[in-house]
Amino acid sequence: MVKIIFLGPPGSGKGTYSSRIGPELVIPHISTGDLLRNEVKGDSELGKKAAEYMNKGNLVPDDLVIEILKKRVEKPDCERGFILDGFPRTLNQAKALDKITNIDMVINLYLPDDILITKLSGRRVCRNCGDNYNVTDIKDDERGIYMAPLLPKKEGVCDKCGGELYQRDDDKPEVIKERLEVYYQKTKSLIDYYTEKGILKQFNVNAVPDIMVPKILKLIRSG
Ligand code: ADP
Ligand code: ZN
Repeated sequence: MVKIIFLGPPGSGKGTYSSRIGPELVIPHISTGDLLRNEVKGDSELGKKAAEYMNKGNLVPDDLVIEILKKRVEKPDCERGFILDGFPRTLNQAKALDKITNIDMVINLYLPDDILITKLSGRRVCRNCGDNYNVTDIKDDERGIYMAPLLPKKEGVCDKCGGELYQRDDDKPEVIKERLEVYYQKTKSLIDYYTEKGILKQFNVNAVPDIMVPKILKLIRSG
């Protein structure tokens, strides 16, 4: 039984890692971004309110996100634990989470900013199913960072569904820098908060997920 939070800047692979590690530990992977998008799709009252913020790239107000997260972690499949991806994003959310449940471990994924920018600039997403690819080839001998591209079988076409691959507007370099700044501003207090609690674990990402996943699992299992 383990309750884990994944923290990490845009481009660190937070979503990829949590969606691969959840099944390995047989616990659900909970992404507040996904939960919110579902509400928006279902056209619920909460979804309508959330959409106003999401469309502008702003954070959804704490009370809405906390409500939706609380409902999710109270479901029976969370009794054995869970991985949170994209929550908490503010200190206020972290404090609210403490009232809902006890977190065992916070994994903070680290990658240098210049690598994050290169990596995000190379990201290509399927318009239809959201599957992710990457066209950049990172080989940084000095810092020992190696990330081969994740190319589709056919250029510009999704392997899974045949949809068109495109570059998100917010994956353009100027916007990426802004997103990183917003991320660091907001999460600094979270990192301090969990460091003080003694449950923060730092993890340096320096290779592709196939190599990183077993190492993260080892870190989790070492307690
Ligand atoms: P990204 O990592 O690109 O921001 P997400 O899927 O994590 O994508 O989130 C999409 C949007 O959902 C965010 O831009 C934000 O509006 C909203 N959102 C997700 N999680 C939270 C949260 N914990 N607090 C506030 N807003 C959130
Ligand atoms: Zn697709």
